[in-house]
Amino acid sequence: MVVLKFGGTSVGKPERMRKITDLLLSTPGKKIVVLSALSGTTNTLVKIGDFLLSQSPESATREINDLEKHYEAFIKDLFTTEAYKAIGQEIVSRYFSLFRLLAAGRFDDRSYRELLAQGELISTELFYHHLQERKVSSRLLPALHFMSIDENNEPELEKISERLKPLVQTLGNVDILVTQGYICRNHTNEIDNLKRGGSDYTASLIGAAIRASEIQIWTDIDGMHNNDPRIVKKTFPIAELTFDEASELAYFGAKILHPSTIVPAQRYGVPVRLKNTMDEKAAGTLISDKGSRGQFKAIAAKDGITAINVKSSRMLLAYGFLRKVFEVFEKYKTPIDMVSTSEVAVSVTIDDARALPQIEEELKALGSIEVDKDQTIICIVGNGLAEKEGVLKQVFSTLAPVKVRMVSFGGSNNNISILLETANKEKALNLLNEGLFDLN
Ligand code: ASP
Ligand code: MG
Repeated sequence: MVVLKFGGTSVGKPERMRKITDLLLSTPGKKIVVLSALSGTTNTLVKIGDFLLSQSPESATREINDLEKHYEAFIKDLFTTEAYKAIGQEIVSRYFSLFRLLAAGRFDDRSYRELLAQGELISTELFYHHLQERKVSSRLLPALHFMSIDENNEPELEKISERLKPLVQTLGNVDILVTQGYICRNHTNEIDNLKRGGSDYTASLIGAAIRASEIQIWTDIDGMHNNDPRIVKKTFPIAELTFDEASELAYFGAKILHPSTIVPAQRYGVPVRLKNTMDEKAAGTLISDKGSRGQFKAIAAKDGITAINVKSSRMLLAYGFLRKVFEVFEKYKTPIDMVSTSEVAVSVTIDDARALPQIEEELKALGSIEVDKDQTIICIVGNGLAEKEGVLKQVFSTLAPVKVRMVSFGGSNNNISILLETANKEKALNLLNEGLFDLN
């Protein structure tokens, strides 16, 4: 079985939805199709939710009305027969009366999450009926019947697998199962989600849960690029990446994939293929456990990083100092990305600075503290980079004109991370692109 995930832009227009159907019909074998909400919908639902939480029901109603018009136009175009246009209208009316109901009641965090889940529910329902209209053998597979997260918001892969396998088996006579990305139930059984961009994660969890032969992520770009195409002109899609390389890139800012996507696929060795709906013939990127070594594969950048330096002469020849520093971050559930130490100081970076004031306060007991905000981590990825001669020389001579705040190398064999001021990011990415890749 193959799992195929289509993102918001791939389902965002009626003609795109029709194209997905053509694509599915030309893909042999049984398939599970994971869909996002139509492009823009989740953002609008977030807006509506925020208006309702901040007691602005008129603004919420305006957004709901506009969104409804969008969906009404969508179904008129998507469906071709009068009978199915009527079904489409019934679906849209049903969802929008739910939105109005949610808006009229006491709106809390729980209603918010329920509201956010509707984007994927409506897109899959519309798509399913479109398949029906085209007489394609298919069924809806409700994500809320199998997708769950625990009290730490971590997906429960074993349980998901236990629930999903029999469901898939009983529906075994159809070719296409359509399910919702992003949405799930939490440990109290309420409707919840896998965070923004979470549909990729859904696809990977399903692929791992049923040990699919492949997970395909269809977006509107022709695979993972060697550098950020929004900032650097000459980028190119990478044909093959290892799971480790792809994880690193997704975590450090390659926007094409939700950062956790690779984890479940890697655990069961299910290859992930990134494909472009706008250009089906393009090779895309294949992520698997195979791949070449000792090459610069790609660069990603992550903004919004804070660097914290703790300096203390008590660190000199002392043991246990780093533990004390790390314990402070642990206490405030704040993950550390990069670490760099000298004999008397340690620098760490964090992405989530919500607890920074408390962290700073506690670190003061350990030494003098310096905090640098607006930093960017540039992550240069390639399997086996650490084994290759001359890589550091190549990176640093390329980066000579830019001031570097911190470096991390050797922790894993597949990346070099560099911290610099966000103001220097564009320059650094362009220099590295010229200096590390053969662009011809
Ligand atoms: N619709 C959700 C979002 O926009 C999930 C996804 O598209 O992956 O974040
Ligand atoms: Mg996405």
